[in-house]
Amino acid sequence: MLILAPGREKSLLRRHVWIFSGAVAAVEGDPAPGETVVVVDADRRFLARAAWSPESQLSARVWSFDPEERIDAAFFRRRVHLAVEFRRFLKLDAPTGGCRLIHSEGDALPGVIADRYGEFVVVQFLSAGAERFRSEIVEALRQETGAKGIFERSDAGVRAKEGLSERCGVIAGEAPPNPIVIEENGAKFAVDVRHGQKSGFYFDQRDARTFVARLAAGKRMLNAFSYTGGFGVAAALAGAEHVINVDSSAPALKLAAHNMERNRIRPERYENRENDVFAELRSLSAAGHRFDLIVLDPPKFIDSRNALTRGCRAYQDIARLGFGLLAPGGVLCNFSCSGLMTPELFQKITADAAVEAGVRGVILHRFEQAADHPAALAVPESFYLKGLATRIDA
Ligand code: SAH
Repeated sequence: MLILAPGREKSLLRRHVWIFSGAVAAVEGDPAPGETVVVVDADRRFLARAAWSPESQLSARVWSFDPEERIDAAFFRRRVHLAVEFRRFLKLDAPTGGCRLIHSEGDALPGVIADRYGEFVVVQFLSAGAERFRSEIVEALRQETGAKGIFERSDAGVRAKEGLSERCGVIAGEAPPNPIVIEENGAKFAVDVRHGQKSGFYFDQRDARTFVARLAAGKRMLNAFSYTGGFGVAAALAGAEHVINVDSSAPALKLAAHNMERNRIRPERYENRENDVFAELRSLSAAGHRFDLIVLDPPKFIDSRNALTRGCRAYQDIARLGFGLLAPGGVLCNFSCSGLMTPELFQKITADAAVEAGVRGVILHRFEQAADHPAALAVPESFYLKGLATRIDA
């Protein structure tokens, strides 16, 4: 049993699911990592059942606020069912496509991530609680999706904070083919679910890729932090005149080239440059290149409050370099997937970057993570991806 310090029950009463170590006054019994514990307030009133993470600053994550609800196989079946039903509601259940099936807190399954790639599911267990119910969750996924195979990619760095080691491999059914090919908005993408980043593909940018494709016809595009070419392929298929993908990862660019070919984009219409984006933006600028459409989709630059100032500077630097490379009337789409970056701060940084670059712009669009990465109303931290499309004066 976890007994909270006086007053520390407030966030749980508003249905936030995180319990930090500082909120815990006492632990009764000797719960094992991942074990389900009852959480009570200082007056011993029931608050929730939660998963115990003794190694983490985030000491417990709530599974359920219902005093009657047992945390067992049937519980995980119900939660996975809700998650799968939501993607059906979103019309993201086409068998040739892919989507995020379980988005941790967003689907009331903290620590669990699952992505569907066609008939296969890739799953990550990122907390001690998720790890403890690994087999129940896999069984629920198998039954609710009818997947041909389930592959585990529990190799994310965050597992270390939970005292968990890395683990990858087939957990149920068949091994997925390499690559798995999925379709998104008419584009085909080959995905390496064994070695790719995260589980292999960034479904969270689906809506942004659709938006960029709408603007792309006839444009000279720069796709910086391209990974396997997501935005570049979408733009080329929509008629972009030329696309330059830039990424520091050679395997990602190899797949980007493969994806261009697979979508029958002629080789003279694209180029893949393996380089640091900061360096590449500077050398493109020095060489006098100009673009009509630029996408800047960097990795998370801010992963703790200590990194905030330095991270903000990095976002501002690339945005300044990006603005400087736009032709008159060009559009910059810049993103941040750092949860600690608020949309307001991101807009301010982008505005400052435009001033530094000497351009005036208007906001064409505000981006957010796609709906299959739901943000729980009660858990503001589950909203993480934001972006701006800015058009500069012609
Ligand atoms: N836009 C992509 C996802 C980008 S993920 C999509 O829609 O699929 C971020 C990418 O940035 C990764 O592929 C990573 O290899 C790359 N990256 C990280 N730091 C970099 C740097 N300094 N220079 C170039 N690429 C970098």
